[in-house]
Amino acid sequence: MKIVEYDDKGRRIESEPGSAPKRTPTSALAPQPDFRRPDAARSPVTQTQPRRRSSSSGIELHMFQTGTLRTKLKYIKMNQGESDFEIPVPWFLIKHPQGNVVIDGGNAVEAAIDKRGHWGAVVDAYDPIMDVADNCVDQCRSVGVEPHSVRYVLQSHLHLDHTGAIGRFPRAQHIVQRIEYDYAFNPHWFSKGAYIRADFDRPGLDWKFLGGEYTDNYDLFGDGTIRMIFTPGHAPGHQSFLITLPNTGPVLLTIDAAYTLDHWNDLALPGLVVSSADAANSVAKLRKIAGLTNAMVVTGHDPKNWESFLKAPHDFYD
Ligand SMILES: [Zn+2]
Repeated sequence: MKIVEYDDKGRRIESEPGSAPKRTPTSALAPQPDFRRPDAARSPVTQTQPRRRSSSSGIELHMFQTGTLRTKLKYIKMNQGESDFEIPVPWFLIKHPQGNVVIDGGNAVEAAIDKRGHWGAVVDAYDPIMDVADNCVDQCRSVGVEPHSVRYVLQSHLHLDHTGAIGRFPRAQHIVQRIEYDYAFNPHWFSKGAYIRADFDRPGLDWKFLGGEYTDNYDLFGDGTIRMIFTPGHAPGHQSFLITLPNTGPVLLTIDAAYTLDHWNDLALPGLVVSSADAANSVAKLRKIAGLTNAMVVTGHDPKNWESFLKAPHDFYD
């Protein structure tokens, strides 16, 4: 068992248990919104935790996926070649006493039923490997969450592998960055294939729009459990999530601000990007938050990184 951590530059450090790597004191970092927990000193890797059937706080983070995408390396890591690359499509459920929250929901179920009909020619670049049973509604039910009990659907952005929850939870408010919502209806030519209008242009949706830097670090419940961090670059209105759990502590869901650890470590730009400068700045912003909070970092689509976490429906973080 290896302990994986990041230094103050966001660089990956591996060590054996018992030989904890050195940390930079958080006081060395520039002032930021106070994300710290009083007991923040802990390992960012918690896969050795015992399994629990339910949490005492009622706050739980469940990590799901809607299958994988078969693609090529260059579509994930810019200019890095034609070799085959298969990536997971993660999404997240947070149980909270004030209401259940779905983040992204993975692919829409239609990608399992008629992928070319629903996604079009983009399946030649990103081929969804997904069963109907992988849809986020049925996966929520597998951990006891009925659709009407989902209060919020949070959208990191509106690309096709993140829109599976929209309109599937009848009482949910959907929260997205305004600039992302507007862009999704009128994307640049090179981003067009990534937006499936049928997924987000649905009747009767309750939308709430966030305003980029003006609403940065939006605290969903006002208790610090779920904060939404504006991280544009891959998409104009991309956002990441800092989840702070009672026992596990902070978990940083970078989503596609860093598809993989190579993106996290400044070794790759996204295969699809609207602003490389913004994408690089967003990674730097997230690394600063990870350094300040000592968060466990979950990248958007890294096969190896994803393998290392406790997965739903059998396990969760609390
Ligand atoms: Zn994605």
